[in-house]
Amino acid sequence: MEYKVGVISGDGIGPEVVAEAKKVLDAIAQKYGHKFNYTSILMGGCSIDATGVPLTDEAIETAKAQDAVLMGSIGGNTSTSPWYKLAPNLRPEAGLLKLRKSLNLFANLRPAYLYKELKEACPLREDIIGDGFDLLIMRELTGGLYFGARETKEVNGVVTATDTLTYNENEIRRIAKRGFDIAMKRRKKVTSVDKANVLDSSRLWRKIVEEVAKEYPEVKYEHMLVDNCAMQLVKDPKQFDVVLTENMFGDILSDEASMITGSIGMLSSASLNETKFGLYEPSGGSAPDIAGKGIANPIATILSAAMMLRYSFDLDDEAEKIENAVQKVLEEGYRTIDIMPQDKKSGASSKNVKIKEVGTKKIGDLIAERV
Ligand code: NAD
Repeated sequence: MEYKVGVISGDGIGPEVVAEAKKVLDAIAQKYGHKFNYTSILMGGCSIDATGVPLTDEAIETAKAQDAVLMGSIGGNTSTSPWYKLAPNLRPEAGLLKLRKSLNLFANLRPAYLYKELKEACPLREDIIGDGFDLLIMRELTGGLYFGARETKEVNGVVTATDTLTYNENEIRRIAKRGFDIAMKRRKKVTSVDKANVLDSSRLWRKIVEEVAKEYPEVKYEHMLVDNCAMQLVKDPKQFDVVLTENMFGDILSDEASMITGSIGMLSSASLNETKFGLYEPSGGSAPDIAGKGIANPIATILSAAMMLRYSFDLDDEAEKIENAVQKVLEEGYRTIDIMPQDKKSGASSKNVKIKEVGTKKIGDLIAERV
């Protein structure tokens, strides 16, 4: 089969990690007789440099014409990069928000899976980790605080900033359905996270989730306040299967979840609309501190490519092939620096396997070979 894949390499480590994901996709194409036709799309800081804006209308149209889009990451150092001296609507992140909105990518899936080989990179205690955990954060992506009206103005001589958090029942219902659908394919549990003791938007969220839950009698569901959820994620992450939540809570909780898996460099994500189209990207950012050093972990982007095969192209076997190849490379002891056990140097042994520190390209090669 032939597939049109838009590629947003972006900024910082983006181009480095995307190159490795393409390498692995090409190995899949060769093995299974598929063809991935890549089209580059400019977004983020590189687009500002080339066009003056973080995302052009032409880039949006190109993205819409693809079957799916694979992305690295965008942005630079927010303290030193000249991109952050621009007005907020001209900064790199504005491009991503615009793309998500234009493509109606309302459902963001962020799996947090602890590989048993990486237990040592997990900061939690052994008795909390147990046999590991496997949860998925389902974050609403096109509503809430990040898309509400905002302004900064003087009120009675005092500079005052306002952001607004709005959700309507339709926005809540469609993300809740996605969450329960995914739970049906997993361990059939949904934890809906809100702040219903304070926020009106959360009280509506809770009411609609309860309505949707009635359509899924097999799924066990519960409500949890966001502050409690932040605590429970480090206290007992094994209790979670699908964590369903709104935009800002999901943003924060998914970074917390990423940390307990050992590294943000391992975490993939998918952003889906009502069709098969999706935008696939690592959960982390452009990591300007390590850009260009050849040490970034490309596994999150490679696993995002696997999600693309599964959710946009229905290529489940091929997706599993990539996931197994990643597992194998970890079992063989290969690690990028971010997932090296803290107390071990390259050459040390862990559970009878020699740990070998490798760079971005090498780990990409190894995974592609295992495919
Ligand atoms: P970050 O995720 O880029 O980096 C946080 C830490 O994680 C850094 O120490 C970095 O080196 C490390 N890290 C991240 N990805 C890694 C990888 N693949 N391998 C190894 N280590 C990795 O977050 P930040 O520093 O807060 O943000 C940097 C820039 O990225 C900012 O401009 C921010 O706005 C942007 N950003 C973009 C996206 C996106 O493109 N979707 C998401 C988050 C942040």
